[in-house]
Amino acid sequence: MASPPSAIPEMTLQEVMDRLGPSIFAGLLDTDGILRYANQAALQAIGSTPEQVLGRRFDTTPWWKACDLSQSRLQQAMAGALRGEASRFDVRVATASGAALSMDFSLLPLFGPDGRVLWLIPSARDVSEREQAQHQLQLTRHAVEQASDALLQVGPDGALRDANAAACRLFGLEREQLLRLRVPDIDTQIDETRWPQRWHELYERGSLRFETSVRHQEGHEIPADVSISLVKSDTETFAHVCIDDLRERRAAERRIRQLLQFDELTGLPNRQLLFERLGTILQTSAQTAVLVLELDRFKRINDGLGPTVGDAVLREVAQRIAATVRSIDLVARRDGDEFVIVMPAPPLPALHMAQALLDIAARPIWIEEQEVHITCSIGIATAPADGDHADTLLRRANAALHQAKLQGRNQASVYSGAPHDDDPERLALEIALRHALRDEQLDLHYQPQVDLVHGRIVGVEALLRWQHPTLGRIAPDRFIPIAEETGLIVAIGDWVLRRAIDQATDWQRAGLPPLRMAVNLSARQLLQPDLARRIEGLLAAAGLDPRLFGVEVTESMLIANFDQAVQHLKALRALGVEVSLDDFGTGYSSLSYLRRLPVDVVKIDRSLVPDVTALAEDVSITRAIITMAHQLQMKVLAEGVESEGQAALLAANQCDQMQGYWFSSAQPAAVVETMLRDGLRIDPALLDRRDQRGSDLQVPRRALHGPDRQ
Ligand code: C2E
Ligand code: MG
Ligand code: MG
Repeated sequence: MASPPSAIPEMTLQEVMDRLGPSIFAGLLDTDGILRYANQAALQAIGSTPEQVLGRRFDTTPWWKACDLSQSRLQQAMAGALRGEASRFDVRVATASGAALSMDFSLLPLFGPDGRVLWLIPSARDVSEREQAQHQLQLTRHAVEQASDALLQVGPDGALRDANAAACRLFGLEREQLLRLRVPDIDTQIDETRWPQRWHELYERGSLRFETSVRHQEGHEIPADVSISLVKSDTETFAHVCIDDLRERRAAERRIRQLLQFDELTGLPNRQLLFERLGTILQTSAQTAVLVLELDRFKRINDGLGPTVGDAVLREVAQRIAATVRSIDLVARRDGDEFVIVMPAPPLPALHMAQALLDIAARPIWIEEQEVHITCSIGIATAPADGDHADTLLRRANAALHQAKLQGRNQASVYSGAPHDDDPERLALEIALRHALRDEQLDLHYQPQVDLVHGRIVGVEALLRWQHPTLGRIAPDRFIPIAEETGLIVAIGDWVLRRAIDQATDWQRAGLPPLRMAVNLSARQLLQPDLARRIEGLLAAAGLDPRLFGVEVTESMLIANFDQAVQHLKALRALGVEVSLDDFGTGYSSLSYLRRLPVDVVKIDRSLVPDVTALAEDVSITRAIITMAHQLQMKVLAEGVESEGQAALLAANQCDQMQGYWFSSAQPAAVVETMLRDGLRIDPALLDRRDQRGSDLQVPRRALHGPDRQ
């Protein structure tokens, strides 16, 4: 084959081609299609030396071996080039190192002075990066379009430049219509004069977040949480706006408030609202009567006729009371079978009113053609004679109620001024409790707390048990309030702390998996100035990592001395101790309050833990609490989980942990130890945490919780 004619400045051309950089391949073919030259980049890509490829037909060189272009297409291109036509196409080439390159390939003819084709120049440019960027861009666009949040792009002038499908749905507009609007058209709090200021603020800070309401095209306003971030590039500056529709959350919040203040069964104000309203009434009314009414032996009805009849009786009694008192009187359901009636400026002696209530309660109640007879007992205290605080009055009315019950029930009794320690039942318990610690009648049981992501036991709650030699087992709900009032709780609480910390240390020493021990604190303990330091000392003395220890407090406990309680909790958290807010959803629970508390875990009270049969509305309350807690960086543990359905529902709603009879009740240390050794856990199939938003929950059929089989 003849050497290249001198018309081609050979050396210069090669130099140029070699300096084109690693992403441009170039070569030279003679008119027989033989490769005469290939630049460094092209040779390196296939790992060949010039000797291995030069002099071969171009279409048999390694570049084309691992290429997705057909031979016929290449030959067509070569034939075309010989006729003087240029071709260009995209090919994918495999390199010696195994990488796949996307190349923009072209084959050009090079003409001699006489217009004949002398050479063919194949060249290829690596466009992989560009392709990847385009692919990435497409993915991003897709994600933005599919996002459930409404997303907008806004220019410095306030004009909407882009909007995703969710934004169109939110405003009820087609995209073209939406893109004709400006921020002042959609944000109710921004008008034309304010926009430049908002943009300036965004420009200074880089991002903004605020609540506002936006305008739907039909005119109504939608509350929204808006986050804006500034996007600056060489060529443009715009704002990326994310609008979170708050309607569902607001409705859930209203519902939570309702739930936190009203009793579901009767619709009457509950204990919390009773406290609030009684406080207000006492401030404004010169005289107030407080009547506490309890159904006599209601448990018999509940157990004997079933809870449905029990519920119906409670509803009927609630209605009868409401129908008997005046409209300005307050009727509340304080507890299971306990009602409280508050009468500002009672028109006749409270005892008369009580008598009327006894009479109407004693009338037969018909439930499903069944005649039920019930009586009640009433205790009365009056302000200001018996006190002027809600607490005192209720306690004294209770003492009077106890008196009425002692005197044979079905009657009313007025607080007589006898100190409430005179209550014989309580007194007996108090004396017994004083001996309980000394005589080692107290014990701790431990209830597992289980993680809802992987199903394993992550902690236990220490729960106090009292076995009295003659009175038998006495429930904490009965003796802890007495221990509180008498101050015995301090000594008992100390004992609980020591015992629980020792147990946790023993388990760790025995080589069991890391496990957090949670202890319930009492209001009195929180009032002790050195509580946090004492706990720190006990942990250090035992050598227990504070991260394996937790405390549980309730909101009502914090109220007595909020600042000190918060200080304690902060100090404990600083050590690594986990703080849980117990019984959330009962008593004083308030969402705004939650934000101010140094808390790691919110424990949803079992009364707010829905079952699969629960109304969608109730589930949305639980979900709202979970969402809110997560926004405040808190975890959520659901208490009192009694069925597989509840556990699955909670897992599907992103609840973090659970405890309850379904997994295990509180058990002696030895039993818990066996569970830990056996790796007892929830079946992972039950914890399929697919996002169930907007779809019906499917609960897996079986939830074997046997030993860990991994
Ligand atoms: P808590 O801290 O909210 O404890 C949870 C209560 O719910 C425990 O009752 C537990 O046995 C019960 N429970 C657990 N799972 C279920 C379930 O699935 N269904 C139902 N219906 N109940 C379940 P317990 O042991 O009777 O304790 C009652 C309360 O007494 C505790 O409520 C806590 O406030 C208090 N308490 C218990 N031990 C201590 C203690 O050592 N110190 C203090 N200060 N209070 C304690
Ligand atoms: Mg607790
Ligand atoms: Mg609780």
